[in-house]
Amino acid sequence: MTLTSWPVLIGVALVTFLAMEWVAWWTHKYVMHGDWGWGWHKSHHEEHDELFEKNDLYAVVFSGIAIVLFVVGSLAGLPLVLAFATGITLYGIFYFIVHDGLVHQRWPFRNIPHRGYAKRLVQAHRLHHAVEGREDNVSFGFLYAPPADRLHAQLKASGVVERERRAAREAKAAARAATATVTPPDASRERPDEAEMPRGAA
Ligand SMILES: [Zn+2]
Ligand SMILES: [Zn+2]
Repeated sequence: MTLTSWPVLIGVALVTFLAMEWVAWWTHKYVMHGDWGWGWHKSHHEEHDELFEKNDLYAVVFSGIAIVLFVVGSLAGLPLVLAFATGITLYGIFYFIVHDGLVHQRWPFRNIPHRGYAKRLVQAHRLHHAVEGREDNVSFGFLYAPPADRLHAQLKASGVVERERRAAREAKAAARAATATVTPPDASRERPDEAEMPRGAA
């Protein structure tokens, strides 16, 4: 068996696929939720009606890396590089189906899993989104989904959900108080711009 035989190439693709879970977990935890990656990822933790998010640029970057590896592997005749690129691409497809499809329902049909591994994947990522901010989130991976009970306990222990709810309530109350103190415009001055103009200026 040589390094370019099919069993080896399939093995490399599978190991890459599994290793990508660690890459995705690390990138999600330390880059996307980190100081300089949050700028793109924040859009994914906020509610909106747009079709695309700034966060989708991460998918563009990862696809770009896989494309470059495919091109290099083909041009230089390196089957191992092609197997590596295949593993990355397979993970990307899995990620898209689970994350964008099953969890966030970004496809035109409704399909919410109610059983087994798929249900656990969806639950774990929904609990990641239980926190709107970038700190104290749980479940950064995708292929491996911790049990929902454990994630609930983690969220409870940090108290982050309660903290965010309290902050939102306070912000709402402050906004209400600010609008209540604004004095209504003086109705007797119908054309304030004209009234302020010096006489004879027109
Ligand atoms: Zn996140
Ligand atoms: Zn998500």
